[in-house]
Amino acid sequence: MLRLLFGMVAFVAGLALIVSPAVSQPPGGKDGKGKDGKGGPPRFELGQVFPPPLLAELKLTPEQEKELDAIRKDLKTKLDKLLTDEQKKTVENFRPRGPGGPEPRPIDVAPLPAAARLNLHGSLKPVGDEKAPFVLTGDTTEGLLGDARLEHNGSGIRFLSGEDLNKDGVRAGSATCGVTGLRVEKGRWYRVRVRGLAQDDFAVEKDDLFIKVEFFKDDGKNPLDFIKKSIYPQVELERKSLADSGTNKSLGLATWRTYSINVRTPYAEVDTLKVSVGFGNGIGKAKGSEFWVSEVDISPIPDPADYIPPTKPSTDRNPPALKSLVKLGGRWYYDPRGGSKDPPKQFDHTNADRLYYLSDRLETPFVGNMSAWLRRGYLDRDGNTVEKDQFVPDAVVISFTEKHLVMKSKNLPNHPTAVFPDRSRFLDGNPNVIREQRDTWYIPLEPKPNPTRAAAMTMENKRGLPMGPIGVAVNGVVFFNPFDHITEADAVWRLDRCCGHPSPSSEYHYHKYPVCVNTPWADDGSEHSPLIGFAFDGFPVYGPYESKGLLAKDSKDNPLNEYNLHEDDARGPHYHVTPGKFPHIIGGYWGEMDPNNRSAKKGPPKK
Ligand SMILES: [Zn+2]
Ligand SMILES: [Zn+2]
Repeated sequence: MLRLLFGMVAFVAGLALIVSPAVSQPPGGKDGKGKDGKGGPPRFELGQVFPPPLLAELKLTPEQEKELDAIRKDLKTKLDKLLTDEQKKTVENFRPRGPGGPEPRPIDVAPLPAAARLNLHGSLKPVGDEKAPFVLTGDTTEGLLGDARLEHNGSGIRFLSGEDLNKDGVRAGSATCGVTGLRVEKGRWYRVRVRGLAQDDFAVEKDDLFIKVEFFKDDGKNPLDFIKKSIYPQVELERKSLADSGTNKSLGLATWRTYSINVRTPYAEVDTLKVSVGFGNGIGKAKGSEFWVSEVDISPIPDPADYIPPTKPSTDRNPPALKSLVKLGGRWYYDPRGGSKDPPKQFDHTNADRLYYLSDRLETPFVGNMSAWLRRGYLDRDGNTVEKDQFVPDAVVISFTEKHLVMKSKNLPNHPTAVFPDRSRFLDGNPNVIREQRDTWYIPLEPKPNPTRAAAMTMENKRGLPMGPIGVAVNGVVFFNPFDHITEADAVWRLDRCCGHPSPSSEYHYHKYPVCVNTPWADDGSEHSPLIGFAFDGFPVYGPYESKGLLAKDSKDNPLNEYNLHEDDARGPHYHVTPGKFPHIIGGYWGEMDPNNRSAKKGPPKK
């Protein structure tokens, strides 16, 4: 009986501690008032059984209320006896984290441009209103995405799989934009990339979430053909294959991903495309069942048929597409598109689509990764708090020397982040803020293996990797090793849902696969993943997949070593990120780290 009673007390106390959103210490201060003096939620009180909002929902009868009161008094007396003074103090100071945590700190959300961004590359231009390029239909709306007090998602298009917004009896909708300025020539290739987030309860039947491209002639008047691709299988696959038990679930498990389709214009007369993202057969539950689109990006791509991957490394088997390109060094090429063969002094968001990396194909890893956001609440370079979200077009700028790809980066995420400092302890209570940096990274064009390397397998043997930056993603945000503090084995649970957070030096960084980085094409598990960054030894870091349906971490034919590296003919030695598995990004420098990166923040290269 005693044991049973104790069990019940522990259960009730646990309940009170874990699920009480409004009874914890407010984020603003210990006096029970927010910073702005408006007053926060009341503190946790010993003996509290249900948090007030839950209590309100329960609608207890007067008899029940009376009984509950008695339980409260009894529980408080028992807990008072049970706990030491020190433990009571801990209770007093406790601030739960996670869903049902304290009320997030209120912030005013600056008005943002409505709908998603449309990024067009090459000669492409929008049809119609440049500022509002999307036409919405059905159960589709636009505006701010998610809870801006917790997370910087910005605004975009919302597909409601759980709500019949227009009351037509079905849950379906779309967003469509027109694009013109195509090169009038048969067989031009274009890639449509969609930046999307499928909330945890977004659901459709018949895989009915799609990207559709329609081809028109006569300035968009006459339709010729269309191509449609379902992207729902990718949503479902990633819910499984990217799952990581260490993930902080406070904001949900959904992440921003790239969805894409490659299209070839079927006739020379095609002068206009209509690009749609849409869904049908929605069966989501009402809450958390939206698909968000923040960006649609359309760019010309090299003809995939032009490139046949060499089965053996051999210079005389250069693919035809390479003949028209200018070699920049290493695996990098510039596409003059018939113009001057002199490469530009620098590559930025205006010409990123002409900078190719050669792996098993030609790809454009920096498209969509060179611009970013300086969000409200971040610090700018001078340490001033940013008052209003600002788009930063030139967050990453690239140039080439004989030996290096030189990346100048402001280290600003080009994807949402949680709100930092995490005053409401929604994640781990990270007290740091995200600040714009002035980084210069030197990525060796011809990386070399290091014969004296050491892997960072465990805390006891972590000399393989220093603390601080160890590489950089293609969006200019740095990778850190798997350890956040000297005393902690794994930093994964501390991260926001784009897998990053700021350091004490205000530097946003990733400890694991940065799922939100834009990839040249959708990394949908149907083939080897695309490039997502570089370690400071110059070897490339790829996404999680090795081949169709196979994660690199599970590969038996070509297993990863303790550095998370393996080798193949097309890509040479390369790292893979390993979702849910240590060391997550790289397990040490397999090659020679370029020493310029040690002092990269301070000035010109040493050679
Ligand atoms: Zn960290
Ligand atoms: Zn591989």
